[in-house]
Amino acid sequence: MKRIVVIGGGASGLCAALSAKEAGADVILLEHNDKLGKKLAATGNGRCNLGNAVLTADCYRGGNPQFVSDVFAECSPEQVRSWLTDRGLYLKEKRGYFYPYSEQAASVITFFASRLADKGVNVIVSAEVLKLKKEKKGFSVTYKNLVSDKVVNVACDRVIVATGGMAGQNLGAGPFGYETAKSFGHVISPLFPALVQMVARDKNLKTLSGVRAEAAVTLTTVLDGREEQHKEAGEVLFTDYGISGIAVMQLSRYAGDAIRQKGEAALSIDFLPDFSRDALTDNISKRILSDFEMPVEDCLSTILPKKLLYVIFLRAGVRADAKNEKLTAKDIRNIVKEMKGFTLPIIQTKDFPMAQVTAGGISVFGIHAATLESKLQKGLYFTGELLDVDGTCGGYNLQFAFATGILAGTAAATK
Ligand SMILES: Cc1cc2nc3c(=O)[nH]c(=O)nc-3n(C[C@H](O)[C@H](O)[C@H](O)COP(=O)(O)OP(=O)(O)OC[C@H]3O[C@@H](n4cnc5c(N)ncnc54)[C@H](O)[C@@H]3O)c2cc1C
Repeated sequence: MKRIVVIGGGASGLCAALSAKEAGADVILLEHNDKLGKKLAATGNGRCNLGNAVLTADCYRGGNPQFVSDVFAECSPEQVRSWLTDRGLYLKEKRGYFYPYSEQAASVITFFASRLADKGVNVIVSAEVLKLKKEKKGFSVTYKNLVSDKVVNVACDRVIVATGGMAGQNLGAGPFGYETAKSFGHVISPLFPALVQMVARDKNLKTLSGVRAEAAVTLTTVLDGREEQHKEAGEVLFTDYGISGIAVMQLSRYAGDAIRQKGEAALSIDFLPDFSRDALTDNISKRILSDFEMPVEDCLSTILPKKLLYVIFLRAGVRADAKNEKLTAKDIRNIVKEMKGFTLPIIQTKDFPMAQVTAGGISVFGIHAATLESKLQKGLYFTGELLDVDGTCGGYNLQFAFATGILAGTAAATK
């Protein structure tokens, strides 16, 4: 019987440990937190959005998009969900987003913990892995028991490194997996935070802080004279340092990537994507003409939040309390320009503690997609967020972590 050590008791490590055990291996799972799945418990605002019915090429980013297709060709999102439900995890779909039926991430941890115990996986928490070494036969894994301070060596045939990325505050993230991969000759693509808030330059951020809107957002990046645009639609939320919200988080990896390479990034926000510029100009002109005596901010207050209108008027050079009859056609054009193209230069993104996922990571050119085994070291596997793959919001990162964990666990036990 093969002995397999799984390092990391997060999304991919839990699947890897369970599938390896079910495939007949003797499995030890080492987790340095005092409980399993601490990050998993924080996902989806505590509800754990663990998959998505939609899968298109732009759901994942990274150095080799083909790798993700190859992984899902072996274990598709539907197979991941069947794997979970077959083992007793009830799922619920809401507009294509999958959650545990309880909508409680904690219940997913309970599910895994009881399954692992039931199958006889040796789970050791408060066990910080310090070193992984190739021996003549197999590997040795050295960990420190964080309760007793005792250092322990474990000999094994195969190792699955599932230590996750750098994202998330106090949830167990650390560099162990990247350093280990590097020590075995793997290339690490530069790491940077993704699915994260952006820090903007604008003197009115304090006024805007707290404003939420549904918008169409375009990110323009310029790097080495080359301009790129990425578009998203969804909620934006202003903060005192910049901007957040799903649409912004989705675009953040492109902004972060450009800025870390000394390029530039700026957002253009269309707060009224349902109207063309002409239709909006026409609409506002008519409203203003029909409400002759009203201050312009009152007249437009049902279109957008007042604080946002105030800043839009400032930018357009129009006084918010100006009576409508004072506005010229040019004033209205300027207001419409700001409503449909509110620009926000981005200085940086927030750092890893605030991010939901790590962009960059172990180059997937060095990993077999079907098994997650290293192409450089037989018997060594890498899963989940450690790899140079980052998913968009919507359950894509957990879906990928689960699929890679299932594949690695099964392959390590059987191949
Ligand atoms: C706040 C937040 C919300 C999120 N929400 C969602 C969501 O709703 N849907 C979604 O798809 N994705 C979400 N994600 C992303 C998702 O959680 C991760 O991409 C996913 O958990 C990665 O799985 P993993 O197995 O690679 O790593 P992890 O789940 O991070 O697991 C790695 C484990 O390894 C342990 N570890 C690290 N180093 C060592 C060591 N040296 N020794 C022993 N153990 C170690 C860690 O403590 C951790 O338990 C969210 C992330 C965050 C931070």
